[in-house]
Amino acid sequence: MRNVCSPRRLIGPLRFLFASGVLALLVGGCPQQPVDPESPDTADNSSLATASVLRFDANETIRFEGEISSTADIDVYRLGKLDRGDRVFADVKAIAARLDLVAAVFDVDENIHIFNDDRAADASDLNPLVDFVIRGRDGDYFLGVQALNGTTGTGRYQVEVRITHGVGVPDPRPQIVFLEWRGGSGLSVPNVGVFNLPPFDATQVGLNSSDTAALKQRVAAIVKDRYAGFNLLVQNSDDHATPGGPHSTIFFGSNSATAFAISEQIDSYNVDQSDNAIVFTGSFRDAFAASRPNFEELAQALGNTTAHEVGHLLGLVHTKNCNELMDTTCGNARILQPQVFGAAPLDDSVFGFGFQNPAELLTWILGLVGG
Ligand SMILES: [Zn+2]
Repeated sequence: MRNVCSPRRLIGPLRFLFASGVLALLVGGCPQQPVDPESPDTADNSSLATASVLRFDANETIRFEGEISSTADIDVYRLGKLDRGDRVFADVKAIAARLDLVAAVFDVDENIHIFNDDRAADASDLNPLVDFVIRGRDGDYFLGVQALNGTTGTGRYQVEVRITHGVGVPDPRPQIVFLEWRGGSGLSVPNVGVFNLPPFDATQVGLNSSDTAALKQRVAAIVKDRYAGFNLLVQNSDDHATPGGPHSTIFFGSNSATAFAISEQIDSYNVDQSDNAIVFTGSFRDAFAASRPNFEELAQALGNTTAHEVGHLLGLVHTKNCNELMDTTCGNARILQPQVFGAAPLDDSVFGFGFQNPAELLTWILGLVGG
């Protein structure tokens, strides 16, 4: 992902598209690509109802080519009936030079089960790769492919899909999130940067220094509340030692002209239990300098934002519903009030249709307390 997210919250590295060399090659006018009679891609396979059917070989594998004919084109392929515990591997690679793709898997209700933009979180390889085990209900599943929202490249791509039946559902894994209030030097958020931060102080977000201790406690309580019921343990550097085992660290400090926070990656199904994020405290002071929110409003803004970034580190993507924690569409003022996880439409920057059900995904990823 890159900085096509809303200015409110940004995930992933800043990256710019340089296409000058490629453009020079295209100026002479390319011949039309010959139509591939073997391709399952059709002109109107832009929804689950009109999805192209994939005919797998005896090894449950298929290789084919498709084409993104316009930046708005969506190609949907029916993977067929899959069961809980089946593994889906879908390797999607652009053939056309400037084509930047995303891939996602949906169930029959258009709920997203996995999303991938770039197979390398450092953006060194922009081709998507999906590789996961179905946790949802037995039934039809679909692979969606489209150009990354905001990019202009079109053209052909190749896909290899492999289904492996019955590998079994991995157990949910509890996660520790550590709120690092102490600052420090050489603090690394991979794909984002290395930071030297002073200890957190409430003046960084525009409150009084005397509010600092209470603000930290309130933010920790809000993050805990957002994940209540799931196996996510929120610890903080005021009350706990740095965890000895795998944990995600949230740093607080610095500022950004374009974001309230950035996470290291969208970590589908929380494969990496030690990924980090940073909340840019100075961005809150700057964004709310005129409106002067009160203590509780700023605590909500910091708590919502922290919980949102933790959501990315667990694999959640952006939605478009102002009340929902993974929303990326609403104005800055909205995060001053509580936001909660809930089923919501995917943001346009993620995919052209579909929904995210965080309660279901977080249950599969983290498990339920006492479950
Ligand atoms: Zn985000």
